[in-house]
Amino acid sequence: YYRRSWSSESSDSVISSESGNTYYRVVMIGEHGVGKSTLANIFAGVHDSLDSDCDVLGEDQSSTEQPQDEGECEEDTYERTLMVDGESATIMLLDMWENKSEEEWIQDHCMQVGDAYLIVYSITDRASFEKASELRIQLRRARQTEDIPIILVGNKSDLVRCREVSVSEGRACAVVFDCKFIETSAAVQHNVKELFEGIVRQVRLRRDSKEK
Ligand code: GDP
Ligand code: MG
Repeated sequence: YYRRSWSSESSDSVISSESGNTYYRVVMIGEHGVGKSTLANIFAGVHDSLDSDCDVLGEDQSSTEQPQDEGECEEDTYERTLMVDGESATIMLLDMWENKSEEEWIQDHCMQVGDAYLIVYSITDRASFEKASELRIQLRRARQTEDIPIILVGNKSDLVRCREVSVSEGRACAVVFDCKFIETSAAVQHNVKELFEGIVRQVRLRRDSKEK
């Protein structure tokens, strides 16, 4: 009889096996001011937007993490577990592209460590769009032999009157980049959840095609 309390509580609440979970390091790169940190904060749950969709399993677990080696800044990394297409995935999001010290090694490091990349520009800033092309080239150079999942992100889509880069230009650029494209608004939280689900799907597509 002593087992009764044990069996009634635990088993149903456990979500599948932990081995089914996958872990991706996603790096955000892009010009200053395009909205990387705002997107990262939404991801981290600061605005609690993703929670309302009941798709998010865990809370931000970065506080319980082991300290990173090589001086990675803890406040620039965010970890969350999402349920995407019935399978959980843990994303560690790195928002350390811009750093106060302007140390070059951090950007080199960013180019090396990502399993996937979000190249962010602002639709209100053509220079940031041109910078995105430069970054794509830089990334290709840094990871020549790899087929890295990338999403080109046109942020600030809420600022319709200030638009300098059209949707079709963004889309065409992504074709040249050989990557996915999405327009987001961190301000009104449009397509942000879709962005992070999208990057998980992109990594999985490549993983699945490798297994065949
Ligand atoms: P970062 O330099 O790429 O990290 O850019 P930030 O996240 O610091 O954002 C720069 C500025 O743009 C801030 O004032 C944000 O509030 C604003 N911003 C970011 N995303 C959006 C957006 O989607 N729409 C609007 N209207 N403003 C945004
Ligand atoms: Mg920032």
